[in-house]
Amino acid sequence: MFELQDAFARKFQYLRLSVTDVCNFKCNYCLPDGYRPDGRKSFLTLDEIRRLTRTFAAMGTSKVRITGGEPSLRKDFTDIIETVAATPGIQKVAMTTNGYRMAKQAADWRRAGLTAINVSVDSLDPRMFHQITGQNRFHEVMAGIDAAFDAGFEQVKVNAVLMRGLNDGDLGRFLEWIKDNPIQLRFIELMQTGEMDDLFNRHHVRGALIKEQLLQQGWQQKLRAHNDGPAEVFWHPDYRGEIGLIMPYAKDFCASCNRLRVSSLGKLHLCLFGDYGVDLRDLLAEDGQQAALQLRLREALADKKATHFLHQGHTGMTPHLASIGG
Ligand code: SAM
Repeated sequence: MFELQDAFARKFQYLRLSVTDVCNFKCNYCLPDGYRPDGRKSFLTLDEIRRLTRTFAAMGTSKVRITGGEPSLRKDFTDIIETVAATPGIQKVAMTTNGYRMAKQAADWRRAGLTAINVSVDSLDPRMFHQITGQNRFHEVMAGIDAAFDAGFEQVKVNAVLMRGLNDGDLGRFLEWIKDNPIQLRFIELMQTGEMDDLFNRHHVRGALIKEQLLQQGWQQKLRAHNDGPAEVFWHPDYRGEIGLIMPYAKDFCASCNRLRVSSLGKLHLCLFGDYGVDLRDLLAEDGQQAALQLRLREALADKKATHFLHQGHTGMTPHLASIGG
């Protein structure tokens, strides 16, 4: 078996698969003007997703995160979960969502084989939530989290991007919330992407600062498992919930990289901040192309760089995270 491994001996067991770049939210740090439809695009079909996942699984992938855009906007989203979950070798099927459809569909997703949900909630203040996301849907999203627990998910992960002068004052409120709730709250450090104006300079909060505060308050860091995501995870004896910090600017963030991305148009991205995508679509047309696809993946991986170059202000080709799957 060809394993997905790069020149730095990093192994890739974790695929982040974008199934659409359409989104119905207008987060100020991602798609502030909303999604602009482009009728010429056709996103990966169910059959293409099946072939892709099967090939990655044959090369050692055990976890797939389905993302977007907003993945739940796809009409065949439940079928996508089912297809990925039915792939031999795939043990974990996660999704990242804005929670818009969760109250109605969490139980269906669970039945289809979804094992983990990450939902983005940038503020626990409904007005601030509206200001950041452009959608006045805080209560629906919170109802979606309840629905996920009711459907049998033991833990829900919540993503929040803390921004100076906007929601950074929410930290205490967030901590209070997870005291009795089995939520892993993940603070994602704001990343600079191509289409950002001066928002980054105005609102960026260093993840290391939050880490210092947590350690001072008695939070303790957990060890990582091999197909864990990028978060440093902390626990506290007085809290049912946990905290994850995703700090792409931290030293050595890339050393533990175990993820590859495929965009909704079928391009392999070796890094969220890379300069190019490798087209896979011509090798997803028929079942018999698996060996050729494996070869292309192997050759592409040889070119994965040791690190992103975010520190030097290099944001690569990604205009915003919705375009290749955040
Ligand atoms: N629509 C889904 C959602 O809202 O979670 C999935 C796609 S969204 C691009 C995935 C995650 O990326 C969200 O948690 C979002 O907050 C995060 N994100 C987007 N742009 C970001 C940026 N510039 N810096 C940090 N996180 C970002």
